[in-house]
Amino acid sequence: MHKRILIVEDEASIRDMVAFAVHKADMEPIHAEDAQAAQLAIADTVPDLILLDWMLPGTSGLEFARRLRREELTREIPIIMLTARGEEMDRVNGLEAGVDDYVVKPFSARELIARIKAVLRRIHGDDEAGVIDIGGLRLDGPAHRVFAGEDQVRIGPTEYRLLYFFMTHPERVYSRSQLLDHVWGGNVYVEERTVDVHIRRLRKALEPWQLDSLVQTVRGAGYRFSGNA
Ligand code: CA
Repeated sequence: MHKRILIVEDEASIRDMVAFAVHKADMEPIHAEDAQAAQLAIADTVPDLILLDWMLPGTSGLEFARRLRREELTREIPIIMLTARGEEMDRVNGLEAGVDDYVVKPFSARELIARIKAVLRRIHGDDEAGVIDIGGLRLDGPAHRVFAGEDQVRIGPTEYRLLYFFMTHPERVYSRSQLLDHVWGGNVYVEERTVDVHIRRLRKALEPWQLDSLVQTVRGAGYRFSGNA
């Protein structure tokens, strides 16, 4: 699954340069020229990471970062701030606002991509290869495959996205509506019981290896992926 990178930058030339680099690195760039456009883009699909320009017209980058950290849906999306030289003084403010990293302009495409990958690895706890192993279940992100021991587990695309989300956010309870937001995207009209249907399919796919117990029902709250039975 391609990582979606939301680029919030008012200068079209920089935005295009960044988008090109992101695309070349096998990730999906999403463009936004200001905070308002970014908000709409997020409502459509929650990105995996946000590149946020410090100096934006209207809502500043810092203000927007604070707002993202306050909201449930966007609280955990990693943010890399793009700052101009001289704005480094404000880093403390940025760290207080929950920004994950900084890149100072002018930056090279290579530097930026390296920072993006480092933050994603740190956030998701992935190793170099993007392989996650929890409770005997192994998800190979780059290969887009799931294994139980040596056996490949066959699952559908939605179950894969659901499992990917669970395995990058283990040991935490998510409500049906949170899962809808994160896995299906905020603007898609899907009923909450759709989540139950895909949870059932995911468990069924894991059943032959007795790994279905990794997907736990938390009564009255939602679902949790846990390596601890
Ligand atoms: Ca700017």
